[in-house]
Amino acid sequence: MGYDRNYIVVVQCHLVKERCSGYFCEKAFFERSGEFACYAGEKELRINYMTCGGCCGRAVHRKLTNLLRQSRRREELGKKQFIVHFASCITNDNFHGPPCPHLDYLKDLVTRLGLEYVEGTNISPKAEARRLEGRYRLRPAQERARAEEEEADGAD
Ligand code: SF4
Ligand code: SF4
Repeated sequence: MGYDRNYIVVVQCHLVKERCSGYFCEKAFFERSGEFACYAGEKELRINYMTCGGCCGRAVHRKLTNLLRQSRRREELGKKQFIVHFASCITNDNFHGPPCPHLDYLKDLVTRLGLEYVEGTNISPKAEARRLEGRYRLRPAQERARAEEEEADGAD
């Protein structure tokens, strides 16, 4: 698999989840699409969905601590088995609004627990097109690709 992990934790925006069922996150995981494409062919994966608990997201630390503690006690799971995915409503400019203003703080909380993270879950084709049109901000991966293209153009 793309990441040496078998337990995915999806952290979703608490505010967005007031009106979102999480359908597109789950669908992307089931299809191994979007930011889950790196798990293609991997069937034996566990997944846990949780929200950040509301601004400023500090509850993520308590929730993840609880998950790590319980899974260690009951199943002897180790941190290296976990990977956190911040949902696309947290990381990307999209229909729901700009990325979470506390994203760096959330990343810090996760990192301090010794966990690694991936930015994003589902990638909506419509939002992706709007990013390329300039209506939404580009995702970091798109920004990098565009910078590389520009650098290559400049080299000619
Ligand atoms: S990424 Fe989309 S489907 Fe997932 S929780 Fe956020 S708004 Fe809902
Ligand atoms: S901290 Fe970010 S992800 Fe959490 S509710 Fe606030 S805006 Fe949403």
